[in-house]
Amino acid sequence: MAIKIMLDAGHSGKANRSPVVREYWESERMWLLCEMLAEELLKYGFEVLKTRKDINESLGVFNRGAKAKGCDLFISLHSNAVGGSGNEKVDRVEIYGAYDNLNNSRELASRLATAIVDLMQASEGRVKTRKSQNGEREYYGVLRGARSVGCPLYYIVEHSFHTNERAARWLMEDANLRRLAVLESAVIAGYYGLAKPEIVGDVNQNGELDARDVALIKRALLGSYQLNDEQERLADVNGDGDLTALDYMLAKRKLLKTLD
Ligand SMILES: [Zn+2]
Repeated sequence: MAIKIMLDAGHSGKANRSPVVREYWESERMWLLCEMLAEELLKYGFEVLKTRKDINESLGVFNRGAKAKGCDLFISLHSNAVGGSGNEKVDRVEIYGAYDNLNNSRELASRLATAIVDLMQASEGRVKTRKSQNGEREYYGVLRGARSVGCPLYYIVEHSFHTNERAARWLMEDANLRRLAVLESAVIAGYYGLAKPEIVGDVNQNGELDARDVALIKRALLGSYQLNDEQERLADVNGDGDLTALDYMLAKRKLLKTLD
């Protein structure tokens, strides 16, 4: 059975504007990251669900966490903010997990923190927990909700601080969000021991069979492009050990989704 992941884009509508990069809204950027992360996780065979269907749909924090019922992992996506003068400098990745290190929660948190710090070139990464003052329970409602339904691993991932200009500008680039999605999905897959399955026909190995792959197969057949051994195997769509015009045709049909 597929491992089930519930993704939560941290805020709805237009929420949490950066004071230093005025076009940055945490809700919007994390919504986009959530979409991309879902796409990347699907490539590994995870089952991916989202807490909300629409960016304008609002749902309380506890209820969003509780949507992780039956899931193996819950992740809420954010960028942090810090008030006061001089605090604009704070540029670190923070990941909150179970206050009592439930199911060794720190392990995946620290793997994610290390990888994200490196990609974002943030100053540091911190794996954190926060317990409610009035008892042994999570401080954050979203985590409390996930725990209440028995989700074994749950996190808040703060992609540095949007009060920091450098970090906010970095997060404004769609290509960077895609890099985050690719990286985070790879870290999560590694944690669960999953490798990205090979896609037949994906000659350029970008994770999908697209028009460029079909073009490469055609060029290989015409002798104007030299495939390496691995590419040749991927281009051999019918798997008969020979690269022929039939493979080109099958790749093209696969692309047109007439062939599953
Ligand atoms: Zn947030």
